Amino acid sequence: MTLSELQALEREHVVPSYARSPVEFVRGEGAWLWDEEGNEYLDFLCGISVTNVGHCHPRVVAAVREQAGRLMHVSNLFYTEPAMRLAERLSESSLGGKVYFCNSGAEASEAAIKLVRKAHPSGDVVVVYGAFHGRTYGALSATPQEAKQAPFAPLVPGFRAVEPTPEALAGAVDADTAAVLLEPIQGESGVHALSTEALQAARAACDEHGAALVFDEVQCGMGRTGTLWAYEQTGVTPDAITLAKALGGGLPIGALLTAPRLADVFQPGDHGSTFAGGPVIAAAALAALEVTDDPALLARVGELGQRLHAGLERLPHVSSVRGRGLMLACELDIPASEVVRRALFEQRLILNATGPTTVRLLPPLIVGAREIDTALERLGAALSAGDGG
Ligand code: PLP
Repeated sequence: MTLSELQALEREHVVPSYARSPVEFVRGEGAWLWDEEGNEYLDFLCGISVTNVGHCHPRVVAAVREQAGRLMHVSNLFYTEPAMRLAERLSESSLGGKVYFCNSGAEASEAAIKLVRKAHPSGDVVVVYGAFHGRTYGALSATPQEAKQAPFAPLVPGFRAVEPTPEALAGAVDADTAAVLLEPIQGESGVHALSTEALQAARAACDEHGAALVFDEVQCGMGRTGTLWAYEQTGVTPDAITLAKALGGGLPIGALLTAPRLADVFQPGDHGSTFAGGPVIAAAALAALEVTDDPALLARVGELGQRLHAGLERLPHVSSVRGRGLMLACELDIPASEVVRRALFEQRLILNATGPTTVRLLPPLIVGAREIDTALERLGAALSAGDGG
C-alpha cells in the first residue's frame, strides 16, 4: 500500500487522536529505520524512548520468537517462568521489594496511585507542575497540565500540584499525604531534571510524615541517563518506581517496583490486568534488561551523551542544551517544529519537538560515535537550512 492509501484509510477509519508525520516505516535495525521506498533514517527518538536497545535487537527478537512459538498467554491465574524471572531481576537491580506488572506507563502510574492510596487510605498525592504521568484518569489527574486535563473534567480527586522546588515540596507534604509522585527528569515537558535539593526535600518530607516517594522512571529509566535507573545518580532512593517504554525492548509492558515496605500492600483482588506480565513480553523484557544492565553499555551512554551534548552546543541556533546521558534537549532561537520537519524530510534524522523552541533527542543506547556525529551533521544542516543565502 502507498502512503496516500494509508492516509485515506486513517481518515476514514481511525479516530483522529494523533498527528502523524507522513512517513511509513517498514523496517528497523539498530539506530536505523527504512521507509517503504527504501530511504534510510537515523532514529534519535526511539519511538519516544522505547527502542533503547535499538530496533529489532537480535537478543530481543530471539527471545520473542522462542517464547511465541512455545506459549503466548495463560493469564495471571497461573504461573509462567519469564514473568517470575523478570520480577526477580527487576527487584534485585532496584529497590529490593516486589514487582507489579502492567502494560504501559499510564497503567504503571495507576498502579502506583492505587498502591499508595491503599497504604495510606484517603491520602493525597502530591505532584509537580510540568509532570507527565500518562493519559488514563488517575495518571491524567496526576499530570497538572491545563490543556490535557480541562476537556476531561471532572478528574480524580486528591491530587495536589506544587512547583518542583525544595520549599514547595517540603511544604506540600503533611499527615494527609499518601505520596509524592515525581519524574526525576521530566521528559514530555522537555527534559527538565529536578534539582537534587528538590528530590532531597521530597524524600525528607515523606520520611517525616510517613508518605511514599514514588519516582516515575517510565522515560528516564532503563539506562537512558547512563545508570540503569535515573535515581541512582540523584543520591535519593524512592519507595517505588514506575517503568514502561524501554522495558519491553520495543513491546508494551509496564511495571511498578516497590521497596520492601510497600511490597505486600496489594493483596489478591486489589488490582490486575489480563495481559500483564505475559510470557512473550516478559521474555522480551528479560532480554532487553540483560542487554541494558551492562556496565560497559551504561558507561558508553555517559560518554556518548557528553559527545552529543558538546556537539549540540556548537550548532547554529542552539542557545542551550540540557539533560543527562542520552536524554537531551536543546533550546533554539527558531521554531522547533520547522527544524524537526526539515530534519525528518531533508536530512532523514528523527527527533521531536517538546515545545515551541525545544528539540528532544533520545537516541538508542547502542548508538555509535559515528552515528552521533552523523546526527549532529544532519541536525546542523536542518538548523541552518532556513538561514537563506
Ligand atoms: N510517565 C512518563 C514519564 C512518560 O514519559 C509517559 C509517556 O510518555 C508516561 C508516563 C505514559 O506512558 P504510556 O504512554 O506508556 O502510557
